[in-house]
Amino acid sequence: METRQIANETLTIHRYNTIVVGAGAAGMNCAVHLYEFMTDAGIEDAQNRIAVITAGLGLGASRMSGSDKQTYYKIGTSREMADSAEEFAETLTDAGCCHGDLALAEAIGSLREFYHLVQSGVPFPHDSMGSYIGYKTDNDPYERATSAGPKTSKYMTECLEKQVRRYGIQIHDHKEVAQFLTVGDGDSKRIVGVVTIDKKKLTGDDYAINIYYCKNLVLAAGGPGELYKTSVYPKGQLGIHGFAFKAGLAAENLTESQFGLASIKFRWNVSGSYCQAIPRIFSTDTNGKNQREFLTDFFTSMSKMATNIFLKGYQWPFDPQRIENQQSSSVDVLVFNETQKGRRIFMDFLNNPVGNDSMKQFDLDDLEPEAHEYLKNTDALQETPIERLSTLNPPAIEIYKENGIDLYLEPLEIAVCAQHNNGGFAVDKWWQSNIPQTFIIGEMASTHGVKRPGGSALNAGQVGGLRAAEYIVNAYDLDVPDYSDVRAEIDQQLAEFVTGLEHYESSSGSTPKEVITEIENRMTASAAHIRELNNARTALAEAVECYKHIQKQGFNFEDTKSIITAIRAEHLALTGVAYLKAIVELLEQDSGSRGSHLVLSEDGIEIHSNVINKATGKPLKFKPENESLRGSILQIKYDPQATDLFMCENIAVRQAPADTKAFEQAWRDYREGKIYRS
Ligand SMILES: Cc1cc2nc3c(=O)[nH]c(=O)nc-3n(C[C@H](O)[C@H](O)[C@H](O)COP(=O)(O)OP(=O)(O)OC[C@H]3O[C@@H](n4cnc5c(N)ncnc54)[C@H](O)[C@@H]3O)c2cc1C
Repeated sequence: METRQIANETLTIHRYNTIVVGAGAAGMNCAVHLYEFMTDAGIEDAQNRIAVITAGLGLGASRMSGSDKQTYYKIGTSREMADSAEEFAETLTDAGCCHGDLALAEAIGSLREFYHLVQSGVPFPHDSMGSYIGYKTDNDPYERATSAGPKTSKYMTECLEKQVRRYGIQIHDHKEVAQFLTVGDGDSKRIVGVVTIDKKKLTGDDYAINIYYCKNLVLAAGGPGELYKTSVYPKGQLGIHGFAFKAGLAAENLTESQFGLASIKFRWNVSGSYCQAIPRIFSTDTNGKNQREFLTDFFTSMSKMATNIFLKGYQWPFDPQRIENQQSSSVDVLVFNETQKGRRIFMDFLNNPVGNDSMKQFDLDDLEPEAHEYLKNTDALQETPIERLSTLNPPAIEIYKENGIDLYLEPLEIAVCAQHNNGGFAVDKWWQSNIPQTFIIGEMASTHGVKRPGGSALNAGQVGGLRAAEYIVNAYDLDVPDYSDVRAEIDQQLAEFVTGLEHYESSSGSTPKEVITEIENRMTASAAHIRELNNARTALAEAVECYKHIQKQGFNFEDTKSIITAIRAEHLALTGVAYLKAIVELLEQDSGSRGSHLVLSEDGIEIHSNVINKATGKPLKFKPENESLRGSILQIKYDPQATDLFMCENIAVRQAPADTKAFEQAWRDYREGKIYRS
């Protein structure tokens, strides 16, 4: 084992051609493809040139998150309805702020990656003729969605992990990323290594630091789930955005996070069948007493109310364009409005929705046709929501049972939660970042626009991994790095890192945990699905102050293990600044309500006299989307000299290449490797 002594610390050194950070569905898939492409290129020991590092093999959204039937969105495989890559790409770019080349690449790579998963053993259902039946998901005009059940992404990751292990690729578990090592400046800048702390081996005397040198780096560490207090991301999913910013990576569309209804005791999305079963939704006081049918203040009839609870199933993420005229996202607004009053919200599967005196009783025959036909076609016209849910999707009940909640006995507490990042770090059509030889895939990459069809995150993660692996193997050398020529530059960063750790600890101030709580509260209050410019500006100033304070003062440590929480708190603090800076910048451009957030404005559209803006005590009003911004994307980069630590710029959306070539020309370009240079 190679070791180095730096500032009295022993560092363990590893060298690989390509390091993949993150062991979720995206990272594991990329590792598999890297091995296959390298082997095809004649590398006999590909397994020794690739490694996966992760803070926890069992952590991350892919392993731990899901919904009623977690969706994988792919090109249509229906035997009667034709689909095409261009139509698929159009759906992805439809709501704007989405690069056309990425959307087309995701479309073209979709079936290849879907069948790759099928071959790896993911149990996507098909009929006796081998046809993979689809269904409709949110923002989806076709029936392109499929699912292997509530745990689709878990199965994907497990099947891909088996393949990674079969190939003999090393997985370095329990390694918390703590910094990136870079060399060079400007266009010649490269990320040459990843510094980690081993969470299991960390002791009072030893930080258990591992250095992973690499020529190519694939970042697949997921979204910064811990940014928000009200969140359905699995606990412990932090991501590595702060380090990525510091290394010089540019991010895009950070403003476009998604929010939606989810259960909070066990973090799980209540999309799809949970809503299609049409449960009763009610609120209570903080002690779970004093039940109230709060939706009835807003909906004018039982039919409207029940139909919109149903529609929330596949119109799941909160969408400001589905509020007016009693549409399905009013449910999210009303849930939020009620929680603002300090009340708790529950879904009750034992009872049908309950109306007020002016409403008729719940009756399935009174549902609007879309809801009624769906339930009829799926034989789910039973008396109670739990019976309907059990007909539609028994695993949706089992998953709660596995996690200590019996939907036959108790109601499910829900809230409007942060659930996904449509934005992330900027990539080109090969998923390469603005720093050559560093690639970003999965939720960490910014490949989605303002809206995305449900399930397209998993598709994007798979295609991104394929594209990155193909490019690495065909465009860069596959040797293991030495870096003795830039040793001084690297050693200086390592020395600063180690001494920085020693100076983290102070005897006063906040503990790392307290700082994380402060960040989460701030983000949920000012950067979630309800936004307002002055509020966001104040939050940004506080976030910058919080980050600068950490830099100056460090943290009050509880014990030596606090070093991990301290590292997390610091990079999460910087991440929070980036998100808030992007939000303020976009609000200043008068962006209005779009994607999955509502922008408040005194002169905006009133939702209902009972839906109150807590800050003003007046009815909440929102500004509609400024559609003129759909052709641009807000890009953001770390700049330590800037007042708010980041600089923003609007860049034009890239179009998909329009050229199509004759077979012979395309064949020549492929043979000569020109496709990796165009
Ligand atoms: C409740 C819920 C339901 C969802 N449903 C759907 C759906 O139906 N369809 C869909 O397409 N998408 C869905 N998504 C989104 C989708 O699950 C994620 O976008 C996707 O799984 C992300 O995969 P990933 O591989 O990029 O990252 P993850 O699966 O999050 O993996 C991240 C990896 O990075 C590691 N890591 C993180 N931080 C660090 C660190 N600091 N140091 C070292 N390692 C680190 C983690 O341990 C993990 O191995 C859902 C998300 C949630 C939360």
